[in-house]
Amino acid sequence: MDKFARMQELIALIKKYNYAYYTLDNPIVSDKEYDDLYYELVALEKELGVTLDDSPTKQVGDVVLDKFEKITHEKKLYSLNKANTYDELEDWYNDMRALGAKKFTVEYKYDGLRVVIKYENGIMKQCATRGNGIVGEDITAQVKTIRNVPKTIPYRGKVTVMGEVLMKLSELEKYNKSSNEPLKNARNAAAGALRNLDTKVTASRNLDAIMYDVLSIDGEMMSQTDAHDFLQKNGFDTFNFFSVVDSFRDICQLIEKVDNTKSSLDVLIDGMVVKVDDYGVRDSAGYTEKFPKWAIAYKFKALEVTSIVRNIVWQVGRTGKLTPVCEIDPVELAGATVTHATINNYNDIKRKDIAIGSRVFVRRSNEVIPEILGVAEHYENSVKIELPSICPCCGTRLQYDDINLFCPNYMCPDRIVFRLSHFASQNAMNIEGLSEKTCRTLYENLGVTLPSQLYMLSANELRVLDGFKDKKINNMLGSIESSKNTQLSRFIYALGISGVGEKTAKDLSNTFKTLDGIKMAKYDDIIAIKDIGDIIANSIVEYFHNVDNLNEIDRLLDAGVQIETMQNNRVAGSIFDNKSVVLTGTLENMSRETATEYLEKLGAHVVSSVSKKTDYVLAGENAGSKLAKANTLGVRVISLSDLLAELDKFQIKY
Ligand code: NAD
Repeated sequence: MDKFARMQELIALIKKYNYAYYTLDNPIVSDKEYDDLYYELVALEKELGVTLDDSPTKQVGDVVLDKFEKITHEKKLYSLNKANTYDELEDWYNDMRALGAKKFTVEYKYDGLRVVIKYENGIMKQCATRGNGIVGEDITAQVKTIRNVPKTIPYRGKVTVMGEVLMKLSELEKYNKSSNEPLKNARNAAAGALRNLDTKVTASRNLDAIMYDVLSIDGEMMSQTDAHDFLQKNGFDTFNFFSVVDSFRDICQLIEKVDNTKSSLDVLIDGMVVKVDDYGVRDSAGYTEKFPKWAIAYKFKALEVTSIVRNIVWQVGRTGKLTPVCEIDPVELAGATVTHATINNYNDIKRKDIAIGSRVFVRRSNEVIPEILGVAEHYENSVKIELPSICPCCGTRLQYDDINLFCPNYMCPDRIVFRLSHFASQNAMNIEGLSEKTCRTLYENLGVTLPSQLYMLSANELRVLDGFKDKKINNMLGSIESSKNTQLSRFIYALGISGVGEKTAKDLSNTFKTLDGIKMAKYDDIIAIKDIGDIIANSIVEYFHNVDNLNEIDRLLDAGVQIETMQNNRVAGSIFDNKSVVLTGTLENMSRETATEYLEKLGAHVVSSVSKKTDYVLAGENAGSKLAKANTLGVRVISLSDLLAELDKFQIKY
């Protein structure tokens, strides 16, 4: 295809995607795929020296919906120029320096929908979307439902402020848990709710608005810093993030820091916006047709792409629950090639309408395996995913509780292998080298089905296995041997009792102190523990009433497993005794798990979120929102050296 024809093809494609994204709030490709096409078009236009009149590179946004009243903006609203690399950012920085810029503001680039709000005499008058930059949609009634947008402000003159309407990720999660039709991502969720004539729908989505700019004001304003101060003084939510820096190094450092910690934020950000602070310099910089020259958005690597679902593989876990894993066409995502993505259960497949052959949105969050968010497009050859009826591993008829599928066969080979690998895992008995693959080898070749059999393995038995030479055998037997000395909570977690994760195992150990104590615990004593509900309490009682389980515990103890009980484990009189502690950031030379164990040894309750009741926040490198919250609430912040000093005081080796 010649270059001109490709340019026309790109324009048509981008227009189609713009319509889905801006007008319908329902995109059919990811931002990354869109951006790649857009940059290709920009490059072609430059190379050919032609920009067609209808090119999207000349336009902001897309058509304005007729169902809303139209509002002509008092000033044109622009998009933002983008930098994908530090080199591009530095070129821009140098240009601005040359114009006399000395200070730069660095802000989050919130990924929601822009809102423009006009106040007169301290009263909210009118709210609009950006629309095509000249004309927007009147969404005053919708914005009035947003809790953190002030309806009145102390400032009495005329002022128009700008910001982004968002759905917090915690709100999206809450919504998706209970909704029949889950929302694909927070940006579309917010945009769809805001551009909805039914304000009850807008209100029910619990949106937030974060304000970042003043578009116009009667009074004097000289800089972005002034604008930010104004917003704060007048009660707008600015998400408490705003930095003013004076060097390129500082800009990059801030971006790096946020990039590394952004996953702990409750809002979606897709980059950082750097702006010239001084309005005088801004005037000299001016505008292009599409964006201000005095600001630039540094985009983070995309965390969301689309790909085609090729197959669904059902994995049987140790409890018998089946988890669907989607095989997708290989796709680049945040620096890695992704071929698999997860989805929770069959219920989710139905709710998200996932089909084989369809294009789906795939997102990498904190988890290693990315998650399928929803369908981008179905095709003629898309095939519905059927509810499987028999276990793919052992052929047993499956049970379905309307949400999950279960293989009820306790001796299903996959269940056995995952029980063994769970027992051996790092946070359980910590037997190094006993991966899932090795557990499968031991099961298939040596008939190991129970954890206690691991302690009976001999070098001669292992020698017959493929790839097991003296060194590997010695290492494995060595780590099996050293796992024998363990703590009560690890042992309880390793047993794999249904519903008992690490936290519950610790709670049980702290409450009942000994293995016998836990074995004898009554339902009423267990349910009295905070955070343990009826189902888990019953599961624990049942587990310890099952003769097979009790026999297996006896075999483990007979094999030499020694459990350090909580009575001789905890020390008394430390500054952490009975105190609630939150860990945040990266600790130097110490994992969070190890720090948690030491803190618990010193009597602390380690919890995950900061509240007024938190006694200490132990902050490491790159601590993010938890540290900020601790500072806001006045919670005492300590460092790793405080923990080490306390360990020294009680002569605990680390
Ligand atoms: P943009 O969204 O990349 O950047 C401009 C917007 O950033 C502004 O409108 C503003 O609302 C927002 N913003 C957030 N924080 C800000 C801050 N602190 N200061 C100033 N502005 C801030 O640009 P755009 O022109 O609105 O949209 C283009 C982008 O939208 C594309 O790069 C693509 O990622 C996405 N898009 C995707 C599709 C798709 O099909 N997936 C289609 C069209 C557009």
